[in-house]
Amino acid sequence: MKAAPEQSNRLEPSQILDLFKQSQSAEARVTTPDKWKKVREIFIREMTFQGVPGLEKCVGHGEKYSFLLDLLKRSGNSDTIWYILANWLQSEGICTPEKLLPEDVFRRITQAARKKLAKLSWTDYYYTDLIRAWLPYSQALLQGIKALNPRELEKLAGQLRELGDEADSIRLATRRRRPSAVTLTCAWLADRGVVRPAKRRKDPDPVRTLRNAYSRLCGSGAPRPLRCAFCEKSAISEFRAQDLTSALHCEKHTPEGLPTSPDEPWRDRKRRRWWRSGTEIRYLAAESESSS
Ligand SMILES: [Zn+2]
Repeated sequence: MKAAPEQSNRLEPSQILDLFKQSQSAEARVTTPDKWKKVREIFIREMTFQGVPGLEKCVGHGEKYSFLLDLLKRSGNSDTIWYILANWLQSEGICTPEKLLPEDVFRRITQAARKKLAKLSWTDYYYTDLIRAWLPYSQALLQGIKALNPRELEKLAGQLRELGDEADSIRLATRRRRPSAVTLTCAWLADRGVVRPAKRRKDPDPVRTLRNAYSRLCGSGAPRPLRCAFCEKSAISEFRAQDLTSALHCEKHTPEGLPTSPDEPWRDRKRRRWWRSGTEIRYLAAESESSS
């Protein structure tokens, strides 16, 4: 899986700085209260329609067809049939469940996800969005600093401060116990004081507040654990391409492990092809939805 030659892992400080700027602009676009309703609907859809389990293992159209046919024959009621079809058409990039399903059916099928999300607060979404905005930078920083000597690190820290890194991400990233990208992001955001006072009183540890919010929505602690986009395992985190399109991943399918050639990409459940070029995570949408 990790056939990439060593030098392609090398990240230049300039690339790290670029990602810092990109994350900064992503932060400027995080979910504001007026966007919240829309985002909630996306979460509900993502939680409910995660692809037809088992279908991605089928090889060729013939095998897919008989798998689907069998599944549909065994489905007990019309909602299950709708559910399978909506799931399948979405994974083929043909249409979204909302477009296919009659409104009442869509409501019924997404009922469970709706109930679970109803318990979550807006701050959870807000914190999760902030973490997601900064994850690409944290990933790159953790990967990139391995190759830098103390002098280069100091120089990079200075440049980052100039860009507005008031919480010193390099100090946090070079701790003796090396953090994961999510932990680093949470620690850094907490140092910046993004956790609101009201929440802070309830949970005195702002890093934990952030991580809990994230894991409630994206991690193994999610209401119904979200699956890795590349296999059946539970997702532990996600990576994002430049345009902020994201893929959830498990412990095995980490961003560092992404293939470095577009000719041998990982394919996710939505048939998007993922690879990386240095630190930059890239993807191509499924052939049938070439618009994105
Ligand atoms: Zn996986």
